[in-house]
Amino acid sequence: MSELIISGLKAIISGTGTEILRGIDLTIRSGEVHAIMGPNGAGKSTLSHVLMGKPGYSVTGGTVELDGVDILSMETWQRAQAGLFLGMQYPTEVPGVSLRDMLAASFAASDRNRDDLDSLIRSEADRIGFDQKFLERPLNVDLSGGEKKRNETLQLGVLRPKIAILDELDSGLDVDALRMVSQRVEAATEEDQLGVLVITHYSRLLEELRPDHVHVLAGGRIVKSGGPVLADELEETGYASYGADDDGEAEAGGQPSEGETFADMFADPLA
Ligand code: ADP
Ligand code: MG
Repeated sequence: MSELIISGLKAIISGTGTEILRGIDLTIRSGEVHAIMGPNGAGKSTLSHVLMGKPGYSVTGGTVELDGVDILSMETWQRAQAGLFLGMQYPTEVPGVSLRDMLAASFAASDRNRDDLDSLIRSEADRIGFDQKFLERPLNVDLSGGEKKRNETLQLGVLRPKIAILDELDSGLDVDALRMVSQRVEAATEEDQLGVLVITHYSRLLEELRPDHVHVLAGGRIVKSGGPVLADELEETGYASYGADDDGEAEAGGQPSEGETFADMFADPLA
């Protein structure tokens, strides 16, 4: 049983005073699926980056613990070894390193037996309909958006992390790929008790990957949490009542406009 506890997490862009995360509280346990939705520029990807330790951000408050261990003081690779996984919104191209090389290096670094790695990779590729020809190609290079997302999902299946953060896993996927990928992650929550934090704009993803909790992130804070039905409501109503324009872009980067407080921006529309 694993637990990722995020409390009061605040972060800025390094070297600036720009605060993007303004106090995030979230607990993700094994087997749970938490969906985060919210307008563009709300800080969703920033949250995923800060959790995984991407350079360029400075944590200015709060804590993040995985099974009681502070992960914010760890290097990114140590966080990965501790059982944290990030499926990136824009997966990085790594010329010269194949997916297989990368997974083999990861297994070696954690002293995992590599005897079955190839068969594991092949069976994972089959599960999500990922063409075997991509396995030996340089990681993500010249892959379509959808192929990159399948690539991320394959890594998840092979590496078997404790907690996965999946940033817009659905972007670029056609309906068939979306179904296979979301079914694969849902299966991991049952077979391996994977805990999931999935960022998405569309409730379609959540038809197969069934969330236990849905959260709205706006202006660097979680402004509303609810059950699965909240995802459908958001798709209907958009985020206008959470301080975003109809185009989904948060006003002034999610900052309150002049004379307006955050409380004004995020007042409960139903209250
Ligand atoms: P979301 O994923 O919710 O759409 P992001 O977390 O990507 O939003 O971005 C939140 C805000 O932080 C945006 O206004 C974005 O432009 C800004 N931002 C993120 N990373 C950086 C950076 N490295 N430098 C400057 N601004 C950044
Ligand atoms: Mg994003």
